[in-house]
Amino acid sequence: MENGNDRGERLMEIESDYAVCEDCGLSMGDAASCTCNAINIDGQVFIRNSKYFDVNQDCHDCGIENKPGNYHHYGCDIERCPKCKGQLLSCDCENKREVFQYGN
Ligand SMILES: [Zn+2]
Ligand SMILES: [Zn+2]
Ligand SMILES: [Zn+2]
Repeated sequence: MENGNDRGERLMEIESDYAVCEDCGLSMGDAASCTCNAINIDGQVFIRNSKYFDVNQDCHDCGIENKPGNYHHYGCDIERCPKCKGQLLSCDCENKREVFQYGN
């Protein structure tokens, strides 16, 4: 997908080993939270789980700040599924790839 080049300058400033979250566009490890608060699971919109964290200051996997209200970047092995409460990465819910910013 071609996104144009309007964010080019900003991206150049980010110098880190972290991957960029393709959903929120933020660098994992620098961002305190993913900005995508909702997930589409098989056609239903759920607010993502923002209460489940590991014991570190920052998430060991996706690098967000471990604080209630923060969202993991999609693909993090800590994130819980808002539908079945299982590990999102490995739960049985189908068609759950799409996360996005819901409301304002
Ligand atoms: Zn993100
Ligand atoms: Zn995480
Ligand atoms: Zn699930």
